[in-house]
Amino acid sequence: MPLRPIMTQIAHNLEEVRRRIAAAARKVGRDPAAVKLVAVSKTVDVTRIKEALAAGQKIFGENYLQEARGKIEALGPGAQWHFIGHLQSNKAKAAVALFHLIHSVDRSNLAQALERAAAQAGKIQEILLQVNLAGEETKSGAPPAAMPDLLRETARLPHLRVAGLMTLPPWLDDPEAVRPYFRGLRELRERLLQLNICPLPELSMGMSGDFETAIEEGATLVRVGTAIFGRRG
Ligand SMILES: *Cc1c(COP(=O)(O)O)cnc(C)c1O
Repeated sequence: MPLRPIMTQIAHNLEEVRRRIAAAARKVGRDPAAVKLVAVSKTVDVTRIKEALAAGQKIFGENYLQEARGKIEALGPGAQWHFIGHLQSNKAKAAVALFHLIHSVDRSNLAQALERAAAQAGKIQEILLQVNLAGEETKSGAPPAAMPDLLRETARLPHLRVAGLMTLPPWLDDPEAVRPYFRGLRELRERLLQLNICPLPELSMGMSGDFETAIEEGATLVRVGTAIFGRRG
């Protein structure tokens, strides 16, 4: 009888994260299938990403274009790649070529650059608008007050599809301390929906330390690195 292969640490971690995602969704009466797991693979090498792929993980998130390019070329079309880092406008063409969803659009000139790149590539680029809810100067993201205008502007660009909102809250140990930011993103979406510009089905929020809280507050995309791949070196 062939031995069952021993489950790798990454496969085990993925199973555990998926179980916790499902439990958090059920706790608030949500369908676990409505929450997509983005495995954040920044600094993780191709071998370990392959382990995650082999364990059924399809969506990967990367922060740096240069780093992502080599991995995406090495891994081929089996995975779907999301860009979650700060994006410079002069990298729009590369980002459009590589990524299915760009989570971090936070200013008009970046949206315009992505529009031109997507038009050239003959692609409709899916994006999220990144919001800086705490007004932290060190972080990317548009202030909430700028969102109605940014949404109006990006929604009418023909080669972009705004799928929702993303936030990266202040780094706090206690998930309950982060909850107001997750709730704030959901409430901001409600206010934006009242403007009747476009639907915003996706909320990208929650990381290793707080994804369950984010799911309770409505996250549809959780970005989890450490809990899957271990601590980054
Ligand atoms: C690194 C990173 C994550 C993942 O963080 P973990 O704590 O390792 O889960 C999520 N989102 C963004 C934007 C990141 O840069």
